[in-house]
Amino acid sequence: MAADFDIVVVGGGHAGIEAAWAASRLGARTALVTLNPSMVGQMSCNPAIGGVGKGQMVREIDALGGVMGRAADATGMQFRMLNRSKGPAVWGPRCQSDRHAYAAWMQAALAEAANLTILAGEVTDVLTEGGAVAGVRVASRHLPAGADVRRCESAALADEVARSAAEAAHEPPTDLRCAAAVVTAGTFLNGLMHLGQRSWRGGRYGEAPAGRLSDSLRRCGLQLGRLKTGTCPRLAAETIDYDRCTPQHGDEPPVPFSFLTERLALRQEPCWITATTPTVHEIVRANLHRAPLYTGQIQSTGPRYCPSFETKVVRFAEKSAHLVFLEPEGRDTNWVYANGIPTSLPVDVQDEFVHRIPGLKSAEILRWGYAIEYDFAQPTQLRPTLETKAVAGLFLAGQINGTTGYEEAAAQGLMAGVNAARRLGGQEGLVLRRSEAYIGVMIDDLVTRGVAEPYRMFTTRAEHRLGLRADNADRRLTEIGRRIGLVDDRRWERFAAKERACDAARRLLAGSRVRGVSLWQLLQQPGTAPADLLDEAPEPARRELARLLCDDAEAVEGVAIDARYEGYLARQQTALKQMRQLDDKRIPAGLDYSRVGHLRQEAREALQQIRPETLGQALRASGITPADVTVLAIHLARGVDS
Ligand code: FAD
Repeated sequence: MAADFDIVVVGGGHAGIEAAWAASRLGARTALVTLNPSMVGQMSCNPAIGGVGKGQMVREIDALGGVMGRAADATGMQFRMLNRSKGPAVWGPRCQSDRHAYAAWMQAALAEAANLTILAGEVTDVLTEGGAVAGVRVASRHLPAGADVRRCESAALADEVARSAAEAAHEPPTDLRCAAAVVTAGTFLNGLMHLGQRSWRGGRYGEAPAGRLSDSLRRCGLQLGRLKTGTCPRLAAETIDYDRCTPQHGDEPPVPFSFLTERLALRQEPCWITATTPTVHEIVRANLHRAPLYTGQIQSTGPRYCPSFETKVVRFAEKSAHLVFLEPEGRDTNWVYANGIPTSLPVDVQDEFVHRIPGLKSAEILRWGYAIEYDFAQPTQLRPTLETKAVAGLFLAGQINGTTGYEEAAAQGLMAGVNAARRLGGQEGLVLRRSEAYIGVMIDDLVTRGVAEPYRMFTTRAEHRLGLRADNADRRLTEIGRRIGLVDDRRWERFAAKERACDAARRLLAGSRVRGVSLWQLLQQPGTAPADLLDEAPEPARRELARLLCDDAEAVEGVAIDARYEGYLARQQTALKQMRQLDDKRIPAGLDYSRVGHLRQEAREALQQIRPETLGQALRASGITPADVTVLAIHLARGVDS
């Protein structure tokens, strides 16, 4: 029987969008099946894209030809480069997003994509034949008119959506035949939400969960665990006393995410900062016996680096204040996200402590903070391409793999979409190295070490972070995106023009001297920026540099950062070369570790479980020592199993 689609993407969150975009752009007939198409691109939590580590990943997604960076540029309300006071390696672009506009932009982009069909429904089963994906089973869902991102601000409609979705579970299902499926179910699998002592089933506020797919994934041989996350209360803007808060303005000029965006022309909106007080902390402490996180009602682990407010009060008992960022959710809504106080404390406790925060005395709370527990699949069950080891053609991406964050999800979605499409074409999977991209670092961490808590990206996770910068993501990845077919002519031409400008800047800086020292070397002195050289540079170099700074400032800045880090980057080369050799040495898929002589029993068990694809991946697995890898390398060199 002919397949209905080549690839079915399950879910229209940040992972599903990039997966569907990439797969369809690579020519695969793709369906995106999601519970509610008008919620595609919804930000479940804070209305912001990027940040330190995360912003670098958005740039990487963009350089490879993904959509997140363009959507953020088109709909952002405030842009800031975080960590500016530190070295450029850890600068993180971030924007405050207009939540409605972001989702609308994504929905419009997908609606126009060739080869892509968007369907409403709940995927209940992954159908397999002979150990490979053969299709998915979809139960239809009836949704009330207007059940979209904007209207889910109405509690009544949100309840109606959840109720009608649950009722539709009895509809006869439809089977969609396909050769690959990318599951990006986010927090929806057996989602259980908590607000005080009250718990109810849901995938996200006002949306029903999707539990049946969990059973199907288990039948496919995957083991699922539980994780938890939480979100902050939302407030009505007109009820906040901004005179008691400190404004936080965007950068001027704003720096875009996408390498395609030439200039951001927008009116930037301020965010506002206030802080909690000892009285606020006292209220929380006095009510810990009613906090689901402390009563045992919530059983699973949440993100350690993004703890709930009640956890912060307990864990950092010595702190008398925690910052609260009041972030507008859009230009045409009065909703404000109170970032910094994620909580699932009961309603009366939230009511009491929020109103004791300076500036929030009269604030109307439009939605209470809440927590959610959900199923996830330990990512060590995946290959580095994000395909499951259990079922050929079944890919997982996003929160379901134990990560948290829109950017982490989008990056995985892109890679899973690319690899699902490449698999159909019989092409080798695309795996980015740790030295090439934060995306490579994240996926390697996930599939090699697994997660014990929701995983989010930090710059400290990357051992080569001086080379993995936001400014050079295009120089690291555009060629790869072009080679695999995701980078279109427009992006490629823009990249080529920037490369020419970088070459010109490099030649000019290396070839022009002042007092016996090249301009390149002058840039290596701390605090020296390219514009500072204009006073010293001899003619005609000075004129040429002025022209480049005017026409190609981004290229000159990138080259100047290369100059600054030249020594460090050169020293890293030897380690990089050694790791590349190990990453290039493949381990045969069916290697029988019991036959590898002299391997420690503990190493044997760990390798048997992870089944690394290369010696490099083996070296990074938990419990594996360099000596174990040497033993393995010797075994492989004998050629017994290869
Ligand atoms: P989601 O954005 O959750 O999208 C999942 C999609 O799959 C949805 O479109 C859904 O309709 C669809 N779907 C699910 N199951 C099925 C099915 N069976 N059939 C069809 N469609 C299906 N991130 C942070 O970085 N920091 C935080 O503090 C934070 N707090 C959060 C708090 C809450 C309450 C929630 C809900 C999320 C929070 N997040 C936070 C997480 C962030 O929202 C996610 O990391 C991100 O949205 C994950 O993207 P995703 O694409 O994997 O999944």
